[in-house]
Amino acid sequence: MQPQSIAIIGAGTAGLATAALLAQQGHAITLIERAPALEPVGAGLLLQPAGLSVLHRMGLYQAMCRYGAHIDALVGHTCSGRAIMNSHYRPLGGQAHGLGIHRASLCHVLDSHLQTLPHQRRMGCTVIAVDTQAHQTLVTLEDNQRTDVLAFDAVLIANGSHSQLRPSDWTRYDRLYPWGAMWAMVPIAAPFDVPQLQQRYHRASAMAGILPTGCRPDQPDTPLASFFWSLPVTEMASWQQPDFACAPFEKWRNALHEFWPELDSVLTPLTQAHQLTPATYRDVIMHQWGENRLGVIGDAAHAMSPQLGQGANMALLDAWALGEAMQQSDNWDDVWAHYHQQRGPHIRFYQRMSRWLTPASQSHSRIIATGRDMLFPLMAQVPWLRLQMARTVAGLKTGLLR
Ligand SMILES: Cc1cc2nc3c(=O)[nH]c(=O)nc-3n(C[C@H](O)[C@H](O)[C@H](O)COP(=O)(O)OP(=O)(O)OC[C@H]3O[C@@H](n4cnc5c(N)ncnc54)[C@H](O)[C@@H]3O)c2cc1C
Repeated sequence: MQPQSIAIIGAGTAGLATAALLAQQGHAITLIERAPALEPVGAGLLLQPAGLSVLHRMGLYQAMCRYGAHIDALVGHTCSGRAIMNSHYRPLGGQAHGLGIHRASLCHVLDSHLQTLPHQRRMGCTVIAVDTQAHQTLVTLEDNQRTDVLAFDAVLIANGSHSQLRPSDWTRYDRLYPWGAMWAMVPIAAPFDVPQLQQRYHRASAMAGILPTGCRPDQPDTPLASFFWSLPVTEMASWQQPDFACAPFEKWRNALHEFWPELDSVLTPLTQAHQLTPATYRDVIMHQWGENRLGVIGDAAHAMSPQLGQGANMALLDAWALGEAMQQSDNWDDVWAHYHQQRGPHIRFYQRMSRWLTPASQSHSRIIATGRDMLFPLMAQVPWLRLQMARTVAGLKTGLLR
């Protein structure tokens, strides 16, 4: 396609990766981000083989591996030690692996790459409206209490799961998940310094997990792990209350010790409730992700629960698919036709799986938890199903049998 002026709203995984790929093709990119600077915020993410292959093609795989921690398997046990989840990347052959990485490191590697390419950026600017017209798209943004309207050939909305900018008439479903998680970053220690995402469950109403996450760019000598504790959203507010800091927090720490005693070795630094950060997630389904001079990518387009560890992965796949579509088309209609064909089946499959599987680890349902405890270990014994589980986790599937 002829060089276009394109605004990308949001400098997260989707925005940064897309900006780099499109800037490389010669488009005039303006990246607009509401944060004044890219801060080392967020916790650990799991990059899957599908997302890593995009980084490979962008020439960023080695750089990412320098920060991240190789992950070979996802394992989950009940408190009584019964293995429920045991999914390895091994059946995928070769050197397939996941990469636990801090969100700040992922953004740092993508941003360092983007900095080598011509583009403009507006940091500390919040986009409040996007308006598509026949030959341009207008972006209204607030910069230091001043309102600006800028015109571009096209606009890509990449401002995350809580986006208020995705077109409502493209959105079929948008709701907050009833469960979220409290998370914290801690220095990694034995027995968690192994290449595994480990989880422990009591029914589906209690779950803790720990993911080796490698190092942050600003702390290159401290390997970290990301700890999370599943919690209904309705209980999150009480964690923020000043009086939660004392007795209830102590009670939770004691209960956690009973639940998973080995965690003591890594959670010693956590002495106060405010050291844990709440995370909520949305479930967003859209009929379409692009039309004419407007597109929606990343979490803004298909927010889902992080149970399958696909968020950053999908953002990278979106960026790659859009880059390819732009290269192969000479008008926006063709770009979106190509993009929908490429991304549609994959996005729909993972949204469905995420919605079906999340209650198996985050709900009050005893029936679902019992079903999970019976079914998952059985599935792991059948080689074909084990392979399908590995492919699902790796982000490689586009349908139950595809
Ligand atoms: C602060 C933060 C912390 C996170 N921490 C974790 C984590 O610990 N673990 C995990 O699995 N996932 C986390 N995520 C989500 C994870 O980064 C995404 O699922 C994944 O990387 C896909 O990214 P995305 O680019 O679609 O969206 P995001 O990574 O959410 O990026 C969206 C970007 O858009 C910016 N933005 C939002 N609204 C506007 C606006 N109106 N105008 C301009 N800019 C705007 C945001 O500041 C953000 O930088 C976090 C996201 C954020 C923003």
